[in-house]
Amino acid sequence: MCQTSMAFATQPIPKGNRVGIITNTGGPAVIATDELVSAGMVLPLLSEKAKAILTETMLPEASINNPIDVVATGGGQHFRSALDVLMNEDTIDSIYINFVTAPFTDTDEVARQIVEVNKMHKKPIVCNFMTNQSMERYQITTKIMKDGGVPCYAFPTTAAKALGALYKYHQVSTRNIGEAKIFTDVKKENALAIINEAKKEGKTFLSSTQVYNLLAQYGIPVADWRIANSVDDAVKAATEIVFPVVVKADAESLVHKSDMGGVAINLKNAEEIRVVVENMKAKFNAPDLKFFIQKFLPGGRELIAGVSAKKDLGHLIMFGIGGIYVEVLKDVIFKIAPVTEVEANEMLSNIKTAKLLEGVRGEKGIDKASVIEIIQRLSQLVCDLPMIQEMDLNPIMAFEDKAFVVDARIKI
Ligand code: ADP
Ligand code: MG
Repeated sequence: MCQTSMAFATQPIPKGNRVGIITNTGGPAVIATDELVSAGMVLPLLSEKAKAILTETMLPEASINNPIDVVATGGGQHFRSALDVLMNEDTIDSIYINFVTAPFTDTDEVARQIVEVNKMHKKPIVCNFMTNQSMERYQITTKIMKDGGVPCYAFPTTAAKALGALYKYHQVSTRNIGEAKIFTDVKKENALAIINEAKKEGKTFLSSTQVYNLLAQYGIPVADWRIANSVDDAVKAATEIVFPVVVKADAESLVHKSDMGGVAINLKNAEEIRVVVENMKAKFNAPDLKFFIQKFLPGGRELIAGVSAKKDLGHLIMFGIGGIYVEVLKDVIFKIAPVTEVEANEMLSNIKTAKLLEGVRGEKGIDKASVIEIIQRLSQLVCDLPMIQEMDLNPIMAFEDKAFVVDARIKI
C-alpha cells in the first residue's frame, strides 16, 4: 500500500488498461509484462507512425515494439523519444519504465528526460529504477528522479503492481454501480417508534420482540417466531408455528446463546419443549428470562449480514459466510451504505467461498436474489435510522428458493 501510494500521490489515473513499456534491460521487462497482464492490463502494438519515428531515433540494436527496448547503451535522447512517442499514441494509457543505471551512460541525463516528460502529467508513469544507491554518482541520479516526482521502485514487480493499482482505481471509480434501490413498502415511522421505545427503556440492545418487529417493518424475512414465558406458552407457540421448532433462552444478558446451551434445535413435540424450557430455567437465572420459540429451518446455508456505524463515514454493511464459525472463517466483505444492487451482487461474488453459494458436490445453490434483497433492505434500514450502531443478522438461513433471518441483534 505504501509503494502504491507513491504512484497515487504523483500520477494521474490512467484512462484505460493499455500500457507501453520502455526498458533498457530484458529480464525486468518480461517480469513487468507478466505482472501488468495479471493486473488486467494489455500491451498494444505500436502504430506504423510511432514505429517510423522510433526507427529514426533509436539505436540500431533497439527493439521497436512494445516493450520498446532502448538497450543498455540507450541515453537520455533515446528514452525521451520513446516517451514522446508513447505519450502521443492514442492506444496507450500509461507508461512503465525500466531504468537500470548502466555505468556507460549518462544516467543523470536519462533521469532529467524522464522527469521532464513526467512533469507534463499527460499519462501516468511508473519507473522500476534499479541502481546502486551507495555509489555517489547514482545518488545524484536518484535525487533527480525523486525531486522530479517520478514514482521509483526497486523491483519490476513492485512498479508494475503500483501501475496495476492505478488502473484498478480507474476501474473501480468509473464502473456503473447504479442507484440504491428505495423499497416503498417499508414502514419507517413504525421502525422509528420501536427504536424510541427501546431508548426510553434505557436499552442499548433491542429486545428480541423489538428486533424482529423492526425487521418486519423493513420487509426483511424472518423465521416465524413467538415469545413465551412458560412451558405452556412455549407449547402453544410451537403448535401455532408448527413443529419442529427451536427454543432459545432470551434475556438481555445472553449474547452468544449457543455457547451457553441457550439454543435447542429440532424440537418435535410438547414433551421435548418441556424438558428444554425446564432446563434453561434452571441454568439461566436471569430475571428477564423468556423463551424465544422459532420455526426450525434445517439444511440452509448459514450467511451473515451486518451493519456497523463508523464515525464520519456512515454505516458499513457486511456480508459473508455466517453461523457460529463466523469469527473463525472471517470470510466477509464490507461496503459503505447505501449499497446498490450491483454492489450487493459483488458482495456475494467477492467472498472467498463464493462457490459455496453456487452449491458444491451435489448440494443445491442458494437463492441469491433473496439475499441481495435482504442486503439492500438492510442498507435502507440503517440509512433511514442512523442511530443504529450495530446490527447482526447471523445466521440468515439461505435455501434454494428463499432466505430467512433466524438470529438478529440490534445495538442503538
Ligand atoms: P447465537 O448466535 O446466540 O449462538 P443463534 O440463534 O444464531 O444463537 O443459533 C446458533 C445456531 O443454531 C445457528 O448458527 C444455527 O446453526 C442454529 N439455529 C438457530 N436457529 C435456527 C433455526 N430456526 N433453524 C435452524 N437452525 C437454527
Ligand atoms: Mg447467531
